[in-house]
Amino acid sequence: MRSGRRIPCLPVPEPELTLELPDGSELSLDQGATGADAAAAIGAGLARAALAVKVDGELRDLGSPLRGGAKFEVVTKDSPEALDLVRHDAAHVLAEAVLELWPKAKISIGPPISDGFYYDIEFPDGEAPGPDDLAPIEEAMAAHIKADEPFERRELPAAEASELFRAQDQDYKVELIDDLVSDEGTETVSLYRNGEFEDLCRGPHGPSTGRIGAFKLTSLAGAYWRGDENRQMLTRVYGTAFHSKQDLKEHLRRIEEAKTRDHRRLGPELDLFSFREESPGMPFWLPNGTTLLRLIEGEVRQQLRSRGYAEIKTPQVLDEELWHRSGHWDNYRENMYFVEAAERESGGERRRFALKPMNCPGACLVYSSGRHSYRELPLRMAEFGLVSRYEREGVLHGLLRVRAFTQDDAHVYCTLEQVTDEVDSICEAIDELYARFGFDDVRVELSTRPEKSIGTDEEWERAEGSLREALERQGREFDLSPGEGTFYGPKIDFHITDALGRSWQCGTCQLDFQMPERFELSYTGADNADHRPVMLHRALLGSMERFAGILIEHHAGRFPLWLAPVQAIVLPVADRHNDYARRVAAELEAAGARSRVDERSESVGRKIRDAELSRAPFMLVVGDNEEGEGAVSVRSHEEGDLGAVPVAEFARSIAERVA
Ligand SMILES: [Zn+2]
Ligand SMILES: [Zn+2]
Repeated sequence: MRSGRRIPCLPVPEPELTLELPDGSELSLDQGATGADAAAAIGAGLARAALAVKVDGELRDLGSPLRGGAKFEVVTKDSPEALDLVRHDAAHVLAEAVLELWPKAKISIGPPISDGFYYDIEFPDGEAPGPDDLAPIEEAMAAHIKADEPFERRELPAAEASELFRAQDQDYKVELIDDLVSDEGTETVSLYRNGEFEDLCRGPHGPSTGRIGAFKLTSLAGAYWRGDENRQMLTRVYGTAFHSKQDLKEHLRRIEEAKTRDHRRLGPELDLFSFREESPGMPFWLPNGTTLLRLIEGEVRQQLRSRGYAEIKTPQVLDEELWHRSGHWDNYRENMYFVEAAERESGGERRRFALKPMNCPGACLVYSSGRHSYRELPLRMAEFGLVSRYEREGVLHGLLRVRAFTQDDAHVYCTLEQVTDEVDSICEAIDELYARFGFDDVRVELSTRPEKSIGTDEEWERAEGSLREALERQGREFDLSPGEGTFYGPKIDFHITDALGRSWQCGTCQLDFQMPERFELSYTGADNADHRPVMLHRALLGSMERFAGILIEHHAGRFPLWLAPVQAIVLPVADRHNDYARRVAAELEAAGARSRVDERSESVGRKIRDAELSRAPFMLVVGDNEEGEGAVSVRSHEEGDLGAVPVAEFARSIAERVA
């Protein structure tokens, strides 16, 4: 809902204008033709399906006049841009409906977002809607969609538009226009009308409200105007829209499914972890969860072993001065915890320390504690490092956003020439590791220099160049994220897609010229002179805790056998079978299988139901018969009842299945 850009003036009139179509052919139209005219000239069916057009790659209204020589494309609901377009349409209809029901409401901004749209609104005092008020808003929206109101664009001088919204007491719109004038020198803004409602908006929009196939308002939240906590708290009304009822239904089903998989629910339910008020945002890992973490760690260690990494451990608490040297003090202080001992040091001074938010400075001290020769490079040092980072309470989210977590971190010290090979090996490790956990679809993103950064232009250019070269040499597709690098260097991020189609950033590989400089790291070259190594920071999974959270949701808590913290629960039919059950568990343990015994004095039916809820892959029922035969009656979650099997044979079969 920002202002409009002036449509470029048409060139000196020519007899006709010619457009280039996606298949390379040309389309000639009368001067002054619009996108809708062009679609109609291509075909009546396409004209009916058209939602907007793309002119030289830029999304435009169907009604916008065209210019000759442009590349032209019709946007229909099959186009990638189409969902954003109808969701933006729906946001306007939402504002229209709200102003009908709350004529004194003040509207601010309402953009489309990745899975829907929202509108931030100031409701009159005491009249903010609750969840029950969403249905009447939806009803009013549905009526406007049924009425198929056209979206009509007009342009106004900024002063006139400002006056218009001031007369309607729409203060937020007035502020938006005033800022456009003062910050960007905007002279004209565009407005879009649907029905009686007119909004300040840059556009584009679909032709009419009737093209919103299906929509739903999903939730309410608070949001500060312009994200500033000193400004007005607004009500954010969230919704989503799709081209068809079927797509909407599927989306809502996935949201419900995500709720049942929520790791914050499953964590305590499966005895994996819990959170406590004594340490907000820092998980307490229970035995099952700790087993899960160890299993994940084991997979990472295999990659370390096969790729020439040595493992190190560095302290949690490090002198504040070190963080000045590393650049964290200037660039990362607001996310750090600082600590002091109760007693003074022997010299009488009171030293200040910080909890490490990153492992790198400690790793650099390890590097510089010895002399290194060029023959040792690349020198690869890994650390499962626990880091602490202060995050505001509002952004904490289960294991996905915490204040303390373990990185599967590593630092590679090498020459610039060695970087591409190292990046290759890291990418390979990522592919292997992710596939092991059931993620085959890895998306790669290269992020470049951010606004807040250290180092020279030349260093950044070389750093970005060598990461890009590595990816191109591998023939990997990657997305570019300008300005999203770290303050010390560019990075490659690795994203996975889970069972619900959600994308998660996990691994990262960051090139750094800065830290070796700041820590004066060196190696002796073949020329016997001192040289500065470059440094790669890399994590395969990122945060172990967060990765565990993703895994819990991906598998809905039902881990594959090799990853299940408890692979089998032994269920004694009666108390007199408890001894035998413990012997079974011990035999399984000796064979490398993880099991536990349910020794409660409950009925076996109850124990089976509870074991089912714990999502263990196997249940082993033991009664008189089993004890007599040295067997267990196996129930598999996946395969059902497998009958009585000798204990040794069952233990062997688990070992075979996880091999
Ligand atoms: Zn808009
Ligand atoms: Zn690092």
